[in-house]
Amino acid sequence: MLWDIDGTLVRAGDLGAAVFDRALLAVLGRAPNERIRMSGKTDPQIVHEYLDLMEVDEPGSVPEILHRLEWELAADRHRLAAEGSSCDGAAAVLERLAADDRVVQSVLTGNVAANAVVKLAAFGLERWLDVEAGAFGSDDADRRALVGVALARQREMRGRDVAAQDVWVVGDTPDDLACARAGGTRCLLVATGRYPVDELRGAGADAVLADLTDTERVVEILTAGL
Ligand SMILES: [Mg+2]
Repeated sequence: MLWDIDGTLVRAGDLGAAVFDRALLAVLGRAPNERIRMSGKTDPQIVHEYLDLMEVDEPGSVPEILHRLEWELAADRHRLAAEGSSCDGAAAVLERLAADDRVVQSVLTGNVAANAVVKLAAFGLERWLDVEAGAFGSDDADRRALVGVALARQREMRGRDVAAQDVWVVGDTPDDLACARAGGTRCLLVATGRYPVDELRGAGADAVLADLTDTERVVEILTAGL
């Protein structure tokens, strides 16, 4: 199981966007006048879109902005824990699946790796996930490349050969579905991010749920055929 983080397991609240404002301000000397839609995108993709929006022709500044983004979120991790939340039912599902020895759980997220760890740890979710062997926005700006990254890490770090068709990508946006399709995996979408359940139902995922609160149902979907 490859879990998306924002909108699927965790809600960072305004802080998720505010750290981009602050990182851009710190590196470029000015913050954007408006915010771009972040759902489903990788952190480097978001930074590139902000540079376009701000008409800044400095692609070389992206690594520095991403580094500052890590610094900003780490500095605000206590605020994240206070103002953000884990998504309803997420902890119970992760705990249940972690106890199933047929299942390996990691993350596939647009966050840079350091920020993925901070967001999960703010709500104690990292204990059920093999985060280290996950795939992150820091691996590739194109989310569609990340299933391959995650499977390669399982092979190289854990000696485990996992076939893509045995993998579920769980996310909250059509971008998660596009990533699953590009990687040849199955996809469960949950409507706990910015996309309403009806819009996700039309996207063509293998399964769509309003949220993760029905633990039995989620586990049943993700472990069917094991
Ligand atoms: Mg998401």
